[in-house]
Amino acid sequence: MKLSAQRARELGRALCDTVFPPSCLNCGDLVEASPLRHVCAVCAPLIQRVEPPCCSCCGHPFFGEASGERICVHCEGLLPAFGEGRTAVLFKGPARALVHELKYRHGLHALEDIATLLVGHTHTAEFLRGALLVPVPLHKRKQRERGYNQAVELARALALGLGGGTRVVELLARDTDTQTQTNLDRKERRANLKNAFALAPGAVITTDHRHVLIDDVFTTGSTLNACAAVLRRAGCLNLDVCTFGHG
Ligand SMILES: [Zn+2]
Ligand SMILES: [Zn+2]
Repeated sequence: MKLSAQRARELGRALCDTVFPPSCLNCGDLVEASPLRHVCAVCAPLIQRVEPPCCSCCGHPFFGEASGERICVHCEGLLPAFGEGRTAVLFKGPARALVHELKYRHGLHALEDIATLLVGHTHTAEFLRGALLVPVPLHKRKQRERGYNQAVELARALALGLGGGTRVVELLARDTDTQTQTNLDRKERRANLKNAFALAPGAVITTDHRHVLIDDVFTTGSTLNACAAVLRRAGCLNLDVCTFGHG
């Protein structure tokens, strides 16, 4: 009997799960009969998927009365260099646990669930399918420390899951090893990011293609906007952004 690669992977995973049952990244319980692999059946429904109406810049949903607005309070003053922004989920609870595992605990396995949530969500899947996905770059030193750039890995997983001509193009490089952005306000972030990004050596922009910048989380939008400005200056006309979480 010959096994297909897909079937072999499934069997391998089933065996692995029997020997080392996965535990939920959010609550620590065993993951059984869950739509996700690293979030249990109790925590999975706690992930808040974003549905329209939402801010056309960052993708944050409008709750209640504010559905007439285009830009939310997070984005006032951002002056986006990109067209539209979408996000799949709110960055809290189990969604936050997945990103933390991916970014800070060398947990590349969390990517599987993050990609599942993005690809399985029409709101983001339709937005991304067929586009050229441009991951937000990491500085070389950080990438060495982490072992990978989570935005590149995410973009690759999305291209694979979405099909339809969706491709990853690594057009950007991060030249400056900026200090962490966490404790800075928007103005400080913008100054911190000035000239941090550049076109990657040999990068070619195909102006007639739609490009979508990919990152794990939309916080103030400063990083994505700095990347978008570089792509715009290089002649990119049709440019949007998409993140997994907003928070
Ligand atoms: Zn759980
Ligand atoms: Zn917004």
